[in-house]
Amino acid sequence: MEVLVLGAGVIGLTSAWFLHAAGHSVTVVDRHPSVARETSFANGAQLSYSYVAPLAGPGVLAKIPGWLMDGDAPMRFRPALDIDQWRWCMQFMRACTTEQSARSTRALLELSFLSRSLMHGLIDSEPSLDFDFVRSGKLVVHRDGAAFESAVGQLAFQRTLGCDQVALDADACIDVEPALGHLRDQFAGGIYTASEDTADCYRFCTSLERLLRARGVSFELGTPVTALTSRAGGRAEAWSGARRLPGEQIVIALGCESTGLLKPLGIDVPVYPLKGYSLTVPVETASKTPSISVTDFARKVVYARLGDRLRVAGMADIVGYSRQLNRRRLATLRRESEAMFPDAGDYSAAEAWAGLRPATPRGTPLVGATHVRNLWLNIGHGALGFTLAAGAAQLLGERIGGRATSIDATLFEPGGRA
Ligand SMILES: Cc1cc2nc3c(=O)[nH]c(=O)nc-3n(C[C@H](O)[C@H](O)[C@H](O)COP(=O)(O)OP(=O)(O)OC[C@H]3O[C@@H](n4cnc5c(N)ncnc54)[C@H](O)[C@@H]3O)c2cc1C
Repeated sequence: MEVLVLGAGVIGLTSAWFLHAAGHSVTVVDRHPSVARETSFANGAQLSYSYVAPLAGPGVLAKIPGWLMDGDAPMRFRPALDIDQWRWCMQFMRACTTEQSARSTRALLELSFLSRSLMHGLIDSEPSLDFDFVRSGKLVVHRDGAAFESAVGQLAFQRTLGCDQVALDADACIDVEPALGHLRDQFAGGIYTASEDTADCYRFCTSLERLLRARGVSFELGTPVTALTSRAGGRAEAWSGARRLPGEQIVIALGCESTGLLKPLGIDVPVYPLKGYSLTVPVETASKTPSISVTDFARKVVYARLGDRLRVAGMADIVGYSRQLNRRRLATLRRESEAMFPDAGDYSAAEAWAGLRPATPRGTPLVGATHVRNLWLNIGHGALGFTLAAGAAQLLGERIGGRATSIDATLFEPGGRA
């Protein structure tokens, strides 16, 4: 089949990879002149296969009032005259139950483990892929004793779901990551997961683009998709101005922008932007820079070493579609990273970036068919798009090809329980 993939972020590009591998003829379209210039550009670099629990969880509602009062909190909300924003928030609050959170976590873990094996397979079979990939392991550090005890209590449950993790006291945390040595007295402990990876999502995308082009996949970059329409017979068409874009089957991988473009077709998806920030710091002192992935649990900030750079990312702001850099949020992120790894590098030379996570209220992506028979979705991966990309792309390819899916994909059905 001729498949048109709309969006050249990590989701569109991995979709193109698995669709091409399944024998389809693929064209990828994006409004930017080069790939991965939006949310896939400078994310947290975590391939965080064992940490997929959605933001919507039983403990979150109690924290929200405190976060809203504190301008430096990990989460921020600015109310807008936007029905989609309010609807998303209501659905998010409804998803904050133990049952829903456990259901989403189980489904996401299955998808992330599928992703991990596909990603490792891809790396083995394509040695020219060059994207600072490291089997780094991940340490989540806790400053608060009660939060640490609660995380330790979760380990047995996580193990039943296939996660191999250990609890470490403060000294053992420093043994695993010596660059945290100056904070020994501040940690209650940490959870270490050896099977986590880190990598540069943007470099992954540009490497994959190169391989896709070499295999005959077509790219139409600098091409904005301006409308999706349906014609008699119930088939969708995609337009860039007056030009109809080619393809029998259409895959939507437009991140946050998917929501508005799908509406005229009567497809209402609960995907809304959760804005986040990152800093990319040039490393100066390797021994003072983490070599494993580190997460500061209370601040919800992640740290990943990408060669001679340190990537720091965090924040979840419900503030609409603006990608503008907010000085106060960036100053908070910088202050926190300087306190965590003060001698790692030159923070004054850090590159600042903001991106919009395409988030669903329940934290589960939408992968599969719509009521328009040639229109498919691969959207809504939220804070986990890099982590889930390979698995989601494989599921999408299986659905389009009419094959059985590798895992139970019911929870990801666009028409199901998104
Ligand atoms: C601060 C931050 C940290 C993160 N950290 C991590 C992490 O550590 N690990 C992880 O797994 N995930 C992380 N994420 C999430 C991850 O980056 C996203 O889930 C992922 O990049 C989404 O990919 P996407 O392809 O769906 O969207 P995008 O990368 O935004 O791609 C969508 C593409 O569609 C194109 N497009 C949009 N509208 C149009 C149009 N009308 N016409 C043509 N083209 C259009 C855009 O140009 C863009 O290239 C993070 C996100 C943020 C913001």
